[in-house]
Formats: sequence, structure tokens, C-alpha cells
Amino acid sequence: MKYKRILLKLSGESLMGDKQYGIDSDRVLQYAQDIKAVHDTGLEIAIVIGGGNIFRGLSAEKGGMDRVQADYMGMLATVINSMALQDALEKTGVKTRLMTAIKMEQICEPFIRRRAVRHLEKRRIVIFGAGTGNPYFTTDTAASLRAIEINADAVLKGTRVDGIYTADPEKDPTATKYENITFQEVYDNNLNVMDMTAFTLCQENKLPIIVFDMNKAGNFMRIANGDSIGTLVK
Ligand code: UDP
Repeated sequence: MKYKRILLKLSGESLMGDKQYGIDSDRVLQYAQDIKAVHDTGLEIAIVIGGGNIFRGLSAEKGGMDRVQADYMGMLATVINSMALQDALEKTGVKTRLMTAIKMEQICEPFIRRRAVRHLEKRRIVIFGAGTGNPYFTTDTAASLRAIEINADAVLKGTRVDGIYTADPEKDPTATKYENITFQEVYDNNLNVMDMTAFTLCQENKLPIIVFDMNKAGNFMRIANGDSIGTLVK
């Protein structure tokens, strides 16, 4: 295995599968099986999930809501997704812990860094819910922050595209994929990998980011093995 400990970031939207809203249970199960397979190889895995399939603060603000209120709703949405993934993971037989940045003691533990590391050492998959716990941030930033805090070797961003392209491959058919790219090249070419706060946090702390297509079963294993099927930013 190329890594010892990684942080997997999944967007909320990825949990929708082919649906327009909410959680597709087949998709969650596929993710859980892929994650378990990688975990079984000995890799320590922490996970951050977004909430965009349920609620996004920025969109709600555009609809007239108070931004801070809306962002807290977005953070709660990530907890719903985290609980769905936790359930699916436990059905595959792995031990998990959900830790949130907002206290919800009846359903999960509060995020405590030392405890999170201990869970990982004890071979539990740790899911970090409720983002950073602060409005105006994103779950990409939560992923970068938690990855740094737990000393992860890389952030693996599982998306529906298989890497970073010169342009949006869904709009521009001539777009080509980068296998490797530096943080500086991402800035210079104005590429969209993560939001700037999240991205800068990774750069400043020399935390590599790998963007890959999580929707294809088995891809996560290939990435964990060091196959270059995505894009590595470092
Ligand atoms: N959010 C927040 N602070 C955080 C993380 C998330 O306020 O630290 C809110 C924000 O409103 C965001 C929503 O939670 O729109 C869902 O997270 P995100 O958009 O990052 O999810 P994704 O795009 O990955 O599905």
C-alpha cells in the first residue's frame, strides 16, 4: 500500500446516484463495499462527506434565507449522509465511529483529535460530520483540516470525474487530463479542484490531493495501491 492513513472526501451529491435529491442506497452500499475492501488491506481511513444532496447554505441564501442559519442546516445535512454511510459500512462488518464538529451526543461523539487518532489506530473507520462546525466554510475545507489534524498522508477526493482536466470535460470535449500537477499550476491555470480555502490549506501543509472517480467500483482500491488513474496534486 502506498499510504498508511488517508482521508477520503465524498461530495453529498455523489450519494444521490441517479436520483435528483437525497440518498441512493445502492450507491452508498457500493461506496461502503469499496471502502471496506481498502480498509481490509490495513489502510487507516477517515471520511468527510458533503451535504449538497440535501442542503446547501449558499443556494438557500440565494432563496432568501439567512446565510448562517442555512449553513448550519447544510452542516446537519452532512450528518445525515454520514449516518447513512456509517450504517452501510457497519453492514459490511467494519467498525466505525462518527465524530461531529457540532455536538450531538445521542448519535455520535464530538470531534476530539486525539480520540479520532486512537480510533484509527484501533482499526475503526472514522467519519467526520458537520463539516468544520463553522458557517461560511465547506466540507472540502473540513476534509483538508481534518486530514492535517490526523496526519493523513493524502486527501482522496472521490468525484464523478476521473481527475483534473485542462477544462471542464463535461463541457469541452478537447479537454485533457493531468496525471500530476503542482499546486502552483492549479492556481496558474485557474483550475477548480477544491475551494480556495481548502486548497491553500493543503498546499501550505504539503498535503497531497488525489482527485479520482469514486463511482466506478474498484477505483478506490486502485488509487490506494498507487495506480495513477486520477490526478495527483502535490
Ligand atoms: N457547511 C458549512 N461549514 C462547513 C461545512 C459545510 O457551513 O464547515 C455547510 C454549507 O452550507 C454547505 C453545506 O454545509 O453548503 C454542505 O456542504 P458542502 O457544500 O461542502 O457539500 P458538498 O458540496 O461536498 O456536497
